[in-house]
Amino acid sequence: MQSLEAELEAARDLEVDDLADAIESIGFECTRCGACCTGHGGEEHTATVFPDEVRGLEDSDDRPYDWRDVARPMPYGLTETDDGELEGETFEWALQTDGCGDCVFYEENDGVGTCVAHDDRPLICRTYPFSVALAGTSQPMGEAVDEAGVVRAHECEGLGRDISREDAVELARALKERAVRELEEAIAVRDAYEPADPDPGEVVVHDSEGAKRADGTPLEE
Ligand code: SF4
Repeated sequence: MQSLEAELEAARDLEVDDLADAIESIGFECTRCGACCTGHGGEEHTATVFPDEVRGLEDSDDRPYDWRDVARPMPYGLTETDDGELEGETFEWALQTDGCGDCVFYEENDGVGTCVAHDDRPLICRTYPFSVALAGTSQPMGEAVDEAGVVRAHECEGLGRDISREDAVELARALKERAVRELEEAIAVRDAYEPADPDPGEVVVHDSEGAKRADGTPLEE
C-alpha cells in the first residue's frame, strides 16, 4: 500500500471531469428511499462526519443542536462495559442516531424520506453511494456493486438511473473533495496521536483537531 501522503497526492490529482464521466456511465438518481440514512437489522446507522461538519450541523435546520445531538464517537474499536457503556479510544465521529438507530436528521413522511439538514449534510451523504478506489478513503459497508475507472458504486436502488451532466459534475466535485478531506484527516490524526489512556467508562476521540471527550470538548481543557 502507498503512504497516506501518496494517496493524498493521487486524490488531489483526480480530474473532476473523469469522475463525472464515470458517475454518468454508472448512472444515479436518489429515490429518497432513506436506506442510506437509517439503521438496518438492529445495526445503527453509521456514517463518518468531520469535526468542522459537526459544527456546521449544530446550526442547521434552524434548531440549536449541541455536539452530542449531532455526533457520537465512532464505535469501531471501543469496548462495551458491563453497564452497556462504551469505553476506549476511537478515531472518527459518526452522525448521531435516534432511538430507532436512524440518523438523527432523517425524517419520513408518507414513506418519503427527508434530510432536515440537507443543505449542511456531510460530504459522505453528498456522495453516497459512490467512493473512490484510494487506500485511506472510506468505503461504505459491503462490496462495490459497480465501478468505472477509480469510481466505485455501492448498493443503492438509485444506481443505473440517468443523471444530468450538471449533477454528475457536482457529485464528482464532492467526491474528490471527500477523498482529499478523508486523507488529510487521516494524516492529521496519525501525526497528532498520543495515547490518551481513558479512564474506565470514558471515551476519547482522536480527530484531526486533537483528542476530545465524547461531548466534543478538547481533552486538554
Ligand atoms: S445527515 Fe441527512 S443525508 Fe446524511 S445520513 Fe443523516 S438524514 Fe441522511
